[in-house]
Amino acid sequence: MNPIYDQLKRPLRDLRISVTDRCNFRCSYCMPAEVFGPDFAFLPSDKILSFEEIERLVRIFVSFGVKKIRITGGEPLMRRDLPVLVRMIRAVEGVEDIAMTTNGSLLKKYAKPLKEAGLDRVSISLDSLEDERFQAMNGNRGKVKTVLAGIEAAAEAGLYVKMNMVVQKGKNIEDILPMARYFKEKQHILRFIEYMDVGNSNGWRLDDVFSKKEIIDKVQKFSPVKAVAPNYRGEVASRFRYEDGGGEIGVISSVTDSFCGNCSRARISAEGKLYTCLFATEGTDLRDLLRSDLDDAAVGAKIASVWEQRTDRYSEERTEETVKRRKKAKIEMSHIGG
Ligand code: SAM
Ligand code: SF4
Ligand code: SF4
Repeated sequence: MNPIYDQLKRPLRDLRISVTDRCNFRCSYCMPAEVFGPDFAFLPSDKILSFEEIERLVRIFVSFGVKKIRITGGEPLMRRDLPVLVRMIRAVEGVEDIAMTTNGSLLKKYAKPLKEAGLDRVSISLDSLEDERFQAMNGNRGKVKTVLAGIEAAAEAGLYVKMNMVVQKGKNIEDILPMARYFKEKQHILRFIEYMDVGNSNGWRLDDVFSKKEIIDKVQKFSPVKAVAPNYRGEVASRFRYEDGGGEIGVISSVTDSFCGNCSRARISAEGKLYTCLFATEGTDLRDLLRSDLDDAAVGAKIASVWEQRTDRYSEERTEETVKRRKKAKIEMSHIGG
């Protein structure tokens, strides 16, 4: 297929694919247990993209110039046989980098097979090193030591590890420094994520956001850092290096310092909808196209036309007022994967 990529107005560099909408955690900022209770209707398996359909989409996106694929969820390790999918994606010519975002709870078991299948990197989410606060945030579902064991297993298997910590006022501000200290010692990059108004169920308030500036001010007191240039255009985390040579941290500041102008990321939900923004209210169904008799060129043309028309700049326009006024429901983070 022709690379339509050169003709796209906005670059399309990476693709995030959610492989399941299910999760074994109930993080209050993502899938609060009050909303995602025992009766919650998750997607039935025939509504979820098969591995073959995902691989086909990867091939189509690679023809646009996409080189980086990230597997996410829900909790991606709840999808059975995930290493099989990783192997299929690895075999697609043009894929240079395969990453996964995970809560780490099942990583001890899967790190080695995932690495052997061709996974390059994992971003592991952990919001506290104290069980009490961690469990208050994850709906009482996971223990710190299980995630730490998953991190060890990933590093031992040879996966490149980064850490993600959502920072929320009233929940885990006191964990910023212990987390910075621990992961500086372990030599894993820790990325602090401002608490975002994703989805509709987390009761987000601007007052609960602990800003990038506040986070960096705190870290400076522990060990001075200075800002460094992004690794590439469109990198979402602002990078900071410890001045004593002790590695790096990052801050993802979608609320107080947005970066929509450089956004080059397409997202596909577990049921096969294409979203051009993390805060979108509507996606474009690709599943029916994949299950029709259209060929790759025709499916690719549809994707390109959606991408050409995108005008997303949600974070640049966000205020507490715009959040309150919004009438349409946004896609949930557990569907779109962050
Ligand atoms: N279950 C996996 C995990 O937790 O890593 C992958 C999916 S999760 C939706 C992807 C990322 O989104 C995680 O790092 C999580 O912490 C982050 N996230 C979820 N809800 C968020 C929110 N309201 N604000 C900021 N980050 C959020
Ligand atoms: Fe699950 Fe990840 Fe959402 Fe937490 S952030 S509820 S681990 S999908
Ligand atoms: Fe991209 Fe939407 Fe985030 Fe802006 S708000 S950076 S357009 S995903």
